[in-house]
Amino acid sequence: MKPKIVGNLKKGLIFIISAPAGTGKTTLVNLLKNEFSNVVRSISFTTRKPRPNERDGQDYFFISEDEFKNKIKQKDFLEWAEVFGEYYGTSRSHVEKLQMEGKHVALVIDTQGAEKLRKMIDACSIFLFPPNMHELQYRLHSRKSESEEMIQKRLSWAKKEMEKAKGYDYYIINDDLDVAYQVLKSILISEEHKVRGKTIPFLEKITNGQT
Ligand code: ADP
Ligand code: 5GP
Repeated sequence: MKPKIVGNLKKGLIFIISAPAGTGKTTLVNLLKNEFSNVVRSISFTTRKPRPNERDGQDYFFISEDEFKNKIKQKDFLEWAEVFGEYYGTSRSHVEKLQMEGKHVALVIDTQGAEKLRKMIDACSIFLFPPNMHELQYRLHSRKSESEEMIQKRLSWAKKEMEKAKGYDYYIINDDLDVAYQVLKSILISEEHKVRGKTIPFLEKITNGQT
């Protein structure tokens, strides 16, 4: 498949987005998707059970542990990790196809997956912080999607996740949603205009009289 040129790019970009659960990853990525039709969120595979409001193929592809392990063997995953005792993985073919279609792909993944990916591929990584732990706890409760036990597990894990933020390209504090969104949007636009390597696709087009 011939890659579709997006402005100054040869294919869509990859944005890795990580944050402690409840910080606002889903909310911010949805805002970006609504404003930019060339932004898509990669749908991961997981062995976790769907939450009441989640749909298979829309939020995740929900599969069994055997199916997941088979996919690991088949090298179907660009990266995968075990989080809170469940497996999560990003489909290699799904992401590559979207990039070739000229889409920017948002990978909402944990810090273990992000660390592996940053070594393997060219991606822009963004870490989101909650304004404080009290607000994070409030957001996790207000989402009403998990048991108290799971909320406490996620809060204690949050501190470990935040220590990994140092390896990322950008950080955003999601206090006021509008402000956080403006920062996220600015990163997207800046990354689209970055000069990468020695070629500038737009320069080739303009000098060849194609534009
Ligand atoms: P994540 O995907 O990181 O787990 P969500 O996007 O599901 O987090 O957000 C968790 C909860 O916090 C949701 O109820 C969401 O509406 C709320 N939320 C997200 N961002 C903000 C914000 N800046 N201020 C207040 N509430 C927020
Ligand atoms: P949740 O169960 O709240 O949907 O996700 C739990 C954690 O798994 C979050 O930090 C989320 O970003 C991460 N996650 C979701 N999909 C993937 C994936 O494909 N790979 C990795 N490494 N982490 C993922």
